[in-house]
Amino acid sequence: MRKVLVSGCLNGRPIRYNQTNVEVASAIWDQWDAEGRLVPFCPELAAGFPVPRPPAEIVGSTATQVILGKGAVLEDNGTDVTAQFLEGARLAVERAVAAGCVVAVLTDGSPSCGTTYTYDGTFTGGTVPGMGVTAQLLHDNGIVVFSENQIEQADDFVRTVR
Ligand code: SF4
Repeated sequence: MRKVLVSGCLNGRPIRYNQTNVEVASAIWDQWDAEGRLVPFCPELAAGFPVPRPPAEIVGSTATQVILGKGAVLEDNGTDVTAQFLEGARLAVERAVAAGCVVAVLTDGSPSCGTTYTYDGTFTGGTVPGMGVTAQLLHDNGIVVFSENQIEQADDFVRTVR
């Protein structure tokens, strides 16, 4: 039975930058929990960030550029946290591989966990299509990533994989 890496803040823990969680109301999620499939992981906590913490965004680049050393993740106070975001992403891949995850369900919009969009680096609420750094690195390592709004698709996929 394949496990599913999930953003830690989707599993009831108020660990986002602003000390909140993201509610998931899904019978599939509950079933995954009952089946022991969930592998909750927060790349930002794993990289040593506290709760709460300043908001961060990918600035002037994409997650792929960040991974290639050609982009940056900054906090809203200007602090460069690129290295910590890369470390969190590396640890997420390590955890997913160790647990045998082929799928991840991640909190959309996050500079780490976003899968369909992130914020645009201006700290004004604008968004751009694309992935966060952890989601991108998981994807690059063969883990199929979904947002918390795509749980049915993730379930369809995970049940086809032996
Ligand atoms: Fe949630 Fe991911 Fe942000 Fe951690 S890094 S709080 S798991 S969205």
